[in-house]
Amino acid sequence: MFSPNNIPIEELFSVAKSQIQMLRIPAFQARGIRLLVKRDDLIHPEVSGNKWRKLKYPLLQALQQKSEGIMTFGGAYSNHLLATASVCNEIKLPCVGFIRGEELAINSNPTLSRCHQLGMKLVFLPREEYALRNDFEYQRELKAAYPAYFLIPEGGASYLGMIGCQEIWKEITEPLDHLFVAQGTTTTSCGLLLAKPSSCTLHVVPVLKGFDVIQEMTVLLNQAMWEKEMIKEALGDLVVHADYHFGGYAKYNDELLTFIQTCANKYDLPLDQVYTGKAFYAVIQELEKKLYDGQTILFLHTGGLQGKLFNTSTEKK
Ligand SMILES: *Cc1c(COP(=O)(O)O)cnc(C)c1O
Repeated sequence: MFSPNNIPIEELFSVAKSQIQMLRIPAFQARGIRLLVKRDDLIHPEVSGNKWRKLKYPLLQALQQKSEGIMTFGGAYSNHLLATASVCNEIKLPCVGFIRGEELAINSNPTLSRCHQLGMKLVFLPREEYALRNDFEYQRELKAAYPAYFLIPEGGASYLGMIGCQEIWKEITEPLDHLFVAQGTTTTSCGLLLAKPSSCTLHVVPVLKGFDVIQEMTVLLNQAMWEKEMIKEALGDLVVHADYHFGGYAKYNDELLTFIQTCANKYDLPLDQVYTGKAFYAVIQELEKKLYDGQTILFLHTGGLQGKLFNTSTEKK
């Protein structure tokens, strides 16, 4: 499938750049723990990590249907919005971003400025209206305003998004005992769950406070047409690490910042303070437990380093 710009979309961003890095931490090595990191952050500086995986099939479908553009939703610092703007710019497909907050403007922050610069049309919505983003009737109105535009839900949270995330397994050739991943909309973790080898335990680290992981994942997994019992069973084996949100979405403290700095210096592992910093902090805490001796653990680095580059996207506690 070729894009309007004649770029084969499969080759637009090579996932070959997502190497597996082995972390040599003596205390863990002494206990026979193999700690691996899959570097999806290296796929592309803006269309980073899981955002490319979630966009791939919706874009393919949009092109197949000869859609005239893409429309999607996001908050003021959304990695998904930037990824969409960047990839649409690359394939020369128009795009519209519906932004939460009518008080915002193009120059409110570097994420929005960059989206605008990449050619995304930004539409700022009052919060009450934004709350309707998944409502069928509301989406119909948007489709009437932007006919022939393909709608991608907020955060790429869709069936096609999950299918893109399933493909991560194809690139992991060695057997794993555990895989850890950060969670926002749960699309990435649902995709991983759909294609997970039974010998590997999936661990999720939600970055939102008071987030109902099982409820959110059930809604998405229902879209994959799994039997209700099968969903229940699969989610029964999931391990949720709910206490690493550091106060809530985009909140952080000095301890987290110090941890991120240490990982960059000691292990050459760049992390952000919204998603991967929190999730990897959970990994390190978990591995202190005897349970993991002699096992192979993989942390999926989902990207998100734009927030770190701009360093203005978050709120210190
Ligand atoms: C969006 C994002 C996530 C969350 O992924 P979901 O599929 O929404 O659960 C995790 N990490 C990073 C870096 C992200 O940008």
